[in-house]
Amino acid sequence: MAIASVNPATGETIRTFEALNDAAIDAALARSVSALRVNRARGFDERASRMIRAAEVLEERQKELGRLITIEMGKPIKAAVAEVVKCASNCRYYAEHAQSYLADEHVTTDAKETFIRYEPMGTILAVMPWNFPFWQVFRFAAPALMAGNVAVLKHASNVPQCALAIEEVFRDAGFADFEFQTLLITSEQVERVIADERVRAVTLTGSEPAGASVASIAAKHIKKAVLELGGSDPFIVMPSANLDDAVATAVKARIVNNGQSCIAAKRFIADESIAGEFEKRFVAAMEALKVGDPLDETNDVGPLATPQIADDIEKQVRDSVAAGAQLLTGGKRTGNYYAPTVLARIPPNAPAAREETFGPVASVFRAADVDDAIAKANDSPFGLGASVWTNDRAEMDRFIDGIETGQVFINAMVASDPRVPFGGAKHSGFGRELGVYGIREFVNVKTVWIARS
Ligand code: NAP
Repeated sequence: MAIASVNPATGETIRTFEALNDAAIDAALARSVSALRVNRARGFDERASRMIRAAEVLEERQKELGRLITIEMGKPIKAAVAEVVKCASNCRYYAEHAQSYLADEHVTTDAKETFIRYEPMGTILAVMPWNFPFWQVFRFAAPALMAGNVAVLKHASNVPQCALAIEEVFRDAGFADFEFQTLLITSEQVERVIADERVRAVTLTGSEPAGASVASIAAKHIKKAVLELGGSDPFIVMPSANLDDAVATAVKARIVNNGQSCIAAKRFIADESIAGEFEKRFVAAMEALKVGDPLDETNDVGPLATPQIADDIEKQVRDSVAAGAQLLTGGKRTGNYYAPTVLARIPPNAPAAREETFGPVASVFRAADVDDAIAKANDSPFGLGASVWTNDRAEMDRFIDGIETGQVFINAMVASDPRVPFGGAKHSGFGRELGVYGIREFVNVKTVWIARS
């Protein structure tokens, strides 16, 4: 069955679903047209009161929704509940700021009056991944609905219950006229939805192949696309860094979401002078992690979300070691569980150097100086985020200028935050979510010019 909830910790199939047929998709898109009229006609205050209610519903249901996330995709339960709470904060953020972010902007010209108005685009299709099954959807949907748009969601096929639960949250919060609809469809049916005249734009968070396919279909139909794709974020440690903090954060940044996060640190680049010490402490901290049942709050790392992801990470490690990489710890698989792993002395063309590793596998490199660290950080097709550890101000500026990514965090791990834009450079995609930039992705920027009579 293509669309199914399968608990990755146990292998048990919990529920299966039939994909919608053409007639059901058509009916949903017809509903989205009338939903758009309703949501557009509402003022910001009316939308905001519903969005605040969505935040309250999420908070009220945080335990049950967190459990649903964990049993569908395997992340540790504490992280799953925290994800639901973070979605609530995003709803509140846009409830509070949408109006000012989309207020008319007056411009002085030789006309009597000139201004820019931000209007909703219409029905937006969101194609979303399973790794943060609530957060990815809410960080798109809260600003999109607050801007007056409506949304249809094609979620990943392994998290259908999360997809339905999100639809229910919006409905129960008062977006009860089909402003947000979940379409249980396969990836093959996405083209049909993008091509439909009633859909105005598409946003995809996922892999490069999926992004390339969806963006080219959107281009064929002259529709806007936003792509949030993969990453192989560098985590750079320089001699002036606080090594205790850097090591503790390095572990967190690598194993977040069982290692399956686009902005997880994947390539660790340590200055030669401290690399031996960093490696030693990092390996010890990775070995100290507790791997096991994600519903047990004392565990740090749960299973990978599907057997395919476990197969992929196993092959990447095996091929990297065959190419000459040194395995410092880990490299073992039990079912869908993969042991926290550290690789070093990795040849430049090994998978652990070139590809995104979507699991708890860290690649450690050594840099001769700042320039070498920047060159190594940029030696990747991706450009999502970067974390740099240094207490030297001049060095910070060189990294901020030199690294080709959508975000650089100094002495902190890369994270998304509703207040600041999030997105990538190079093969990590284009467009932005969150902050003022996120809410302006799916609006018609209308210039209004009123001449002097
Ligand atoms: P994926 O296979 O690309 O799936 C993502 C979504 O795209 C799913 O809904 C999937 O549906 C759909 N899809 C896949 N191929 C498609 C196609 N040819 N046409 C239309 N839709 C298609 O990605 P994943 O492996 O689940 O997710 C992990 C990837 O997402 C990683 O690369 C990660 O870095 C990236 N990611 C990026 C961000 C970011 O913000 N930049 C955030 C999170 C994750 P099915 O499930 O039905 O195949």
